[in-house]
Amino acid sequence: MCGVFGVFGHREASNLTYLGLHALQHRGQESVGIVSADGRQLHVERFMGLVGEQVSPEAIARLPGDLAIGHVRYSTAGETHIKNAQPLACSYANGAVAVSHNGNLVNARELRAQLEQDGSIFQSTTDTEVIVHLIARARKPTFVERIVSALSRVRGAYSLLFLTEGMVVAARDPYGFRPLVLGRLRRSRRGTPVHVFASETCAFDLIGAEMVRDVEPGEVIVADARGLRSLRPFPETRRHFCVFEKVYFARPDSVLDGRGVYDARERMGQTLARESPVAGDVVVPVPDSGVPAAIGFARESGIPFGMGLVRSHYIGRTFIEPQDKIRHFGVRLKLSAVRDVLNKKRVVVVDDSIVRGTTARKIVKMIRAAGAREVHLRVSSPPTTHSCFYGIDTPSRDELIAARHSVEAIRKFLTCDSLAYLGRDGMMEAVGDPQGRTHCDACFTGNYIVPVARLGRGRRLHA
Ligand code: 5GP
Ligand code: MG
Repeated sequence: MCGVFGVFGHREASNLTYLGLHALQHRGQESVGIVSADGRQLHVERFMGLVGEQVSPEAIARLPGDLAIGHVRYSTAGETHIKNAQPLACSYANGAVAVSHNGNLVNARELRAQLEQDGSIFQSTTDTEVIVHLIARARKPTFVERIVSALSRVRGAYSLLFLTEGMVVAARDPYGFRPLVLGRLRRSRRGTPVHVFASETCAFDLIGAEMVRDVEPGEVIVADARGLRSLRPFPETRRHFCVFEKVYFARPDSVLDGRGVYDARERMGQTLARESPVAGDVVVPVPDSGVPAAIGFARESGIPFGMGLVRSHYIGRTFIEPQDKIRHFGVRLKLSAVRDVLNKKRVVVVDDSIVRGTTARKIVKMIRAAGAREVHLRVSSPPTTHSCFYGIDTPSRDELIAARHSVEAIRKFLTCDSLAYLGRDGMMEAVGDPQGRTHCDACFTGNYIVPVARLGRGRRLHA
């Protein structure tokens, strides 16, 4: 998964992009990059690691110009390398272009094989580079037409920002799998409007920009010296916004798809309490992701809310392991139990999702060790049974505990007294889509709207 951010028309475009990426850090921690344009050429800075730790004032100073796009990338197994850091930037016969991509293309391998046969030489293993090659090869007179030509050949999920010497272009796939929003900053000194784009509205809040609207599914928005214009070059289809963005991925202060993420999560918790009530003394969230749903669960059930688990905000990438191996060291580094809240209680633990089940198992044991009499786990989304091919880094199916095991078998593995998941209908209701028609829920149902049959496991191109 990734986050994208872009600015058109501000003297401090790269600095604003740096701030925007800060707010989008939760969408990717592996690499960060910014490309700026000063009217003549593109300037590129890319780093492995976190925005705040890697991007220095000196790096920002090397990114002059009124236009910039940026990217934060999520780590995907095996492909952690600076060559895959974005924005990708390259020069071709018609100029220079940089691109930031969030999402996964499902036909990137086929397209890449064709392009390589025709002589293209790839510099990365990302699916995104396919788009750049298609743009370079498109026989169209304008850059925007070349983008449209390239995008009409790719299938899957994309929220994209392109940068050239003089324009920023935003594009979202016809299903709208991944979020992308358009915003506006107060006018620059020259009186021209400043347009901003971001994966989530939380990036606008940080820089004081105002949210204008979502980039619509299938829409291409061009920001250049002539202003802002919108194109609808692709046939319209039913939108399929990723429901997991609302369950887990997005920041709770963001507004996605016209609705607040926090509100959706709280509703999920409320519905879960109605669907799967349990007698308990305290409702405890797994921080941070489980907090809004736990608040909703507590309110609906009338059981008091308690922070029975606290999370360390200081766990870094590397730490010195003790010589004697301490059991469950990993999860204890991140979470610890508050005995005062848990001792002798019937504890209802709320988390947003169970993926492999390994964390949840350790949490249950940790809560019992702190004196809990009973541990009931409530999960504010349905069982995760299928891999995502549209941008979320779910592991392969055989690592998903719910792909092979019944709820009762999972409960035994987790060693909790009871286990219940939110139903699919309840989840859809909570996100304001009671018919379940405008969201992608493939990770919970296996219902893949864009066919992925030809995407083999293993040699996957990474977002
Ligand atoms: P499990 O132990 O079941 O593998 O992990 C469950 C936890 O992982 C939950 O607390 C959930 O918030 C979190 N989670 C769910 N999806 C993702 C994801 O895509 N990336 C990361 N880092 N955590 C996730
Ligand atoms: Mg979590």
